[in-house]
This record gives sequence, structure tokens and C-alpha cells, in this order.
Amino acid sequence: MNEITITRRFYFCSSHRYYLENLSFDENLRLFGKTIYEHGHNYTLFVSIRGNINKTTNMVMNISEIKNIVNEIIEKYYDHKNLNLDNPFFKNRLPTTENIALSFWHFLSEKLNLYKILVYEGDEIFSEYKGEKNMLFGRVYKFSAGHRLYNENLSDEENNKLYGKCANKNGHGHDYKLEIYIEGKVDKETGFIVNINELDKIVNEVLEKIDHKFLNYDVEFFRENLPTTENILIFLKMRLSSKIKGLKKLRIYETENNIFEIECV
Ligand SMILES: [Zn+2]
Ligand SMILES: [Zn+2]
Repeated sequence: MNEITITRRFYFCSSHRYYLENLSFDENLRLFGKTIYEHGHNYTLFVSIRGNINKTTNMVMNISEIKNIVNEIIEKYYDHKNLNLDNPFFKNRLPTTENIALSFWHFLSEKLNLYKILVYEGDEIFSEYKGEKNMLFGRVYKFSAGHRLYNENLSDEENNKLYGKCANKNGHGHDYKLEIYIEGKVDKETGFIVNINELDKIVNEVLEKIDHKFLNYDVEFFRENLPTTENILIFLKMRLSSKIKGLKKLRIYETENNIFEIECV
């Protein structure tokens, strides 16, 4: 079969808050932090459909048709709306990113041959749903670190050949972007696969060990393992796998052009 996947990007802005009426204010605050207060985000939505090429049109589906169907839903329920109050899907559910992905599946799956819904809240939180039992939650973190790629067992010449500019005697550094992917079922009450505040605590505790450090000297692990991005992934996987339930994969952007990924299941 020559099935083709087509993705179209959309934007919308909405407000929301996370608050469970059956819990006290303090319990809500503990669970959701500042998100108990109404606030808003700029969302990006990627709608992917999949199908075979139509022999008459030579397309799977006319993109403007996808645009019209999705925009109608966005206009009606999402853009410049209060998701808690204006969107019927959130009458009995919190408008978390996970539930927003589910909501688009709910509104669109009868109208489009959906393959995937991907929703970004800002550019640091996202959820991906493919109509299955589980879905993916993603969170973006940043850290900066210095390093030098140099193997003591090789000559200067060999090091220069292997690592090029990265072998610079006095080191250099990067702003790293780390994406964490977690797979799981959405909790019916909280709307979370994972509590972001708890996740942040776990991840930041680990990132603290490498953020604003010169990895080769400051971090014990990298005294024995060259601080390539590959080894940074190993370092993170070893420390995060047992602490984060459902951890699926880690992806690091060393620069916008150099992207590394490791599976964690
Ligand atoms: Zn929010
Ligand atoms: Zn480098």
C-alpha cells in the first residue's frame, strides 16, 4: 500500500485553568501550582491524516478541505475562548495539553481520516495522540554546558582529525535542548499523563548536575566517558529511567542542526 500522511499546522490562543472542585484550594495548589489561576497560551496544532492517493485528483485529500474542517472547529471551540467554559469537551475534564489532543481527536475523527494529533502549548509542552489507548506527553528543557572532545590515548593530530574544532584545547560549549517523551494513559481526574511540577523537579535535579558545568572536569561521569551528546543521553537515561514512569525516549538538540535520540523502553 502507498498510504501517504499529510500534516497541516494550525494556531489558536485560549485561556484555561486547572482546578478540581472536589478538592480544597490547598490540594489544588499542591497539584497544579500556578495553573489553578486562569491564564492563557498560544497553541500550535498539527493535524495529520493518512490515506491512499485518489486516482482522479492525485491527492489523498485537498489540503484546503482539511483547513476548512479544522478551522471551523478551532473557531467554534478554541481560538480566543476559555477552554474550561466555552468548549463542551472540557465540561467534565481539565483542559490539559493531553486532553486538548484528545479533544481534537473527538471533534475531527469522524470528519477526517486522522492519523495523528499533535498539540503544543507554547513551545515547551506537547502531546501526541494517534487514537490508541496510550498517548505521548513531551516536555522541553534547556541546559548549557562546556565540553572538549579529546581522547587522551590519541595524538593531537588524530584527535584533530576525529573531533575537528570540538577538540579545541580550551573547550567550547552549547545551549542544549532536551525533549523528554513519556507514554501513558491520561488520568481521568487530573487530565495528566504525568504531573508537570513533579516531572520538572525530577528532571531539574538531574540537569542541575550538568547545567553550567564544564562536563569533562566538573561531572564525574564524563571524566570516564567523553562528553559527546551520545554519552550525555546515556548519562540522562541512567538517571531518569527509574524515576519517570513511562519514559519513552530522550532527544537532544546539541544545535538546531545536530539532533540525537535514545529509546528508553
Ligand atoms: Zn496553562
Ligand atoms: Zn560541542
